Amino acid sequence: MENCIFCKIINGDIPSERVYEDENMVIIKDVNPQAAIHLLLLPKEHYADIEEMTYAQAHTLAECVKKLSEMTKQLGLENGFRLVSNKGKHGCQSVGHLHIHILGGEQLGDRMG
Ligand code: AMP
Repeated sequence: MENCIFCKIINGDIPSERVYEDENMVIIKDVNPQAAIHLLLLPKEHYADIEEMTYAQAHTLAECVKKLSEMTKQLGLENGFRLVSNKGKHGCQSVGHLHIHILGGEQLGDRMG
């Protein structure tokens, strides 16, 4: 997608701190971290959000999340983490390319809203 910042990051047109990449996803460090560890899981395929996501893309995303669960030690998340995906205005989504925030590296608060 031409004007999508995350597509540009995935393609290497915009620099990022990549911590993992495979055929389906890139995991980068968020530029504005909200926790000791704040990563973003970016599916390589462009779709805006879970409403636009196809069932095939949902299947791929589930595989990405499962893979993430197998990398917790190398990512420093072995004591737990939180996954968040903001959607739309009320969800405060600011980038229209589905992404999952991965938060951890410290004790997180118990409020989510
Ligand atoms: P959201 O507000 O849920 O759409 O999340 C977008 C996230 O992308 C925010 O946490 C931003 O800090 C992050 N972000 C925006 N631009 C970049 C970038 N160039 N590299 C890394 N993270 C970014």
